[in-house]
Amino acid sequence: MIEVLTCLRDGHDATLVIAAALICGFGALISARMFRKVSLGLNGARDSWYVLQAGLMGGVTVWTTHFVAMIGFDPGVPVAYEPVLTMLSLILAIVGVGGGLWMVGRSGGGWMAETGGVVMGLAVLAVHYVGMAALELSGALTWNPWLVALSIVLALGLGALTANRFARPLTRLCWCGGAATFALTIASGHFTAMSALTVAPLGGPEAGTPLDGLAPDRTLAMLVLLVMGLFLLAGFVSFLADESARREAATRLRRQSLQDALTGLPNRAMLRSRLEALLSSVRRGEMIAVVSVDLHRFKPVNDVHGHDGGDALLRALADRMSALLGPDEMVCRSGGDEFIALKARSADEDDAVAFARRLHAALVRPVDWQGRRLSVGANLGLAVAPDHGLDVETLLGRVDLAMYRAKAAEESVVIYDPAMDEASRARSQMAMDLRAALEKGELEVHFQAQNEIATRDLVGFEALARWRHPERGMVPPSEFIPVAETTGLIREIGVWVLHAACKEAAAWAEPLRVAVNVAPQQLAQPDFAETVLDALMTSGLEPSRLELEVTEASLISDKRRAEAVMAALKDAGVRIAMDDYGTGYASLSTLQTFPFDKIKIDQSFIRPLGQDRQAAAIVRSTLILGEALGIPVLAEGVETEAQLAFLDRARCKEAQGYFFGKPMDAAETAARVGEQWARKRAEFARGMSAATAYGMGR
Ligand code: C2E
Ligand code: MG
Ligand code: MG
Repeated sequence: MIEVLTCLRDGHDATLVIAAALICGFGALISARMFRKVSLGLNGARDSWYVLQAGLMGGVTVWTTHFVAMIGFDPGVPVAYEPVLTMLSLILAIVGVGGGLWMVGRSGGGWMAETGGVVMGLAVLAVHYVGMAALELSGALTWNPWLVALSIVLALGLGALTANRFARPLTRLCWCGGAATFALTIASGHFTAMSALTVAPLGGPEAGTPLDGLAPDRTLAMLVLLVMGLFLLAGFVSFLADESARREAATRLRRQSLQDALTGLPNRAMLRSRLEALLSSVRRGEMIAVVSVDLHRFKPVNDVHGHDGGDALLRALADRMSALLGPDEMVCRSGGDEFIALKARSADEDDAVAFARRLHAALVRPVDWQGRRLSVGANLGLAVAPDHGLDVETLLGRVDLAMYRAKAAEESVVIYDPAMDEASRARSQMAMDLRAALEKGELEVHFQAQNEIATRDLVGFEALARWRHPERGMVPPSEFIPVAETTGLIREIGVWVLHAACKEAAAWAEPLRVAVNVAPQQLAQPDFAETVLDALMTSGLEPSRLELEVTEASLISDKRRAEAVMAALKDAGVRIAMDDYGTGYASLSTLQTFPFDKIKIDQSFIRPLGQDRQAAAIVRSTLILGEALGIPVLAEGVETEAQLAFLDRARCKEAQGYFFGKPMDAAETAARVGEQWARKRAEFARGMSAATAYGMGR
């Protein structure tokens, strides 16, 4: 400031000096603002681009300040500027400031930062002294060495201070301090150096020598001010526009990463962070309710009405749930057909249950879409904090356990219970043991007879997996098959059973059929047909002797693929039976879409025969249906003579159940087949000899 005032007193044009000071302040502010975007350590091309922009703006500011202030300087004799040196001073300004800022950026907070500031100070001095060298005038220049030295010390010191503010900010506003010191670096460098100069006009003949450089006047000064001012402004505006576009894109990206695109609901990541925040501030006497929702029968909607139908249903359900949310409640889509809801301030467990029930009621109402009714069921699990956990992982794990229980028990809302943890641990343990059992050969295949009702002859066997546990004895499939199904191990077990059953059957004395159960996951395997054919080839079993039992669950998940696989197997001669008929919810339509070779009526309809008229009606109508469709029907779980008599009267052809025998191991089965074969052979021989005797007798 002092230097500026001194200069004004010493014959400077006040307007131009003020204009120079203004452009100096404005330019310094812009460059500092741009440089603020640079992350120290210079990461990537974006940072280099910011350094380049800030260097360009800073350099132009240094040069314009110097040039305009110089034009405003009246040494009392005519002056001109040598254009090449003047341009060189502009290049030095840009390269010097840019280079200095680059060093500050690269420093990562080390001593290189202040060195970069010194380089910026050097650039200011270079602009000034090279600029002075470009000055042509008819006068003798005298320099005050003390003031020259002061100008150097000030420029370098303030340059280092500027860099220090940039590289080691203490507050968010330190960049403003950096801008101020940068402006001071430029101003002090220039005006102190100007104070160091005295011009003595030359007398004699040299005084009138014409000057060939650029003659400075106010018009030139204004022109330079205008051009450079506009340049700085345009640079800054484009920087701001770029910034706001970048910020907008970042906001959009952030929103997208926290939102589900289909329903517009928050996604799982958003829910987790919300739950985390809630858990960290949960107060005494308050509860946080977490509800996990699983839609039931969503897949068939997708299969029947296509993905558009499925999407429309999900959107409608999401809208419905959102509409009933209170201020402390939220719902997110956590997966395909899964949702999680939160209630921040539940008064007690009843309040939490009421919240879950409200959601359930909204989910099970049908949705009208393009003139059709889409409807799903829903099973909800509920867990509350702090009672059931105080961290996100635990709560989400436990609410899922409750939801699985709701699904298995077909209940609308189930609250988490610590016993579920125990059951889940036991399941995980069993899954591990089962894998080991498969490797150690602890699995066996047993066979249960299937008989013709009229003759009571054996017509085939159903292969049933058994696990001979070293400590627990024989483990029934009702215990381990569901575990194998949830862990995916069923695929390996299924292949093993298939090979074992085919191998046994191929060795039977009589070519009876063997039925093998197929789990839904097996049928969903792309190479399932090859697996079956492989088992037939290795065992040498006739394809027509193998019957695969599938349930409706196999057809629900991916109906088209399952049907394609079954059709391929049928073409190869393998028979396909529908197991547990009557327990699904769309048995009739399933029968219509695929030509099964057999229907197995589930044992739950056979057991009550004689006491339950409804069960009898269902069995009778299934038999009529089978007859009409030309599909033979087998009754499962036949235990008594009375049940068998009923079935016989209703013209059922085949039966399986304890009445004919419990599942037997492979050796016993082979022996039973052998017995029947021997009996048939004996009967045949008797028949032959009777026929021969009859022939001879004639
Ligand atoms: P499923 O395919 O319906 O098999 C019939 C089940 O009913 C067998 O039980 C059989 O022992 C039982 N059962 C047969 N007759 C009677 C009877 O008269 N009374 C009673 N109370 N029960 C009878 P198991 O062997 O315990 O098998 C249960 C289920 O496990 C099977 O039902 C089947 O779904 C599954 N399973 C068994 N082995 C396999 C296998 O190798 N792979 C697959 N994926 N599932 C299997
Ligand atoms: Mg079966
Ligand atoms: Mg069955």
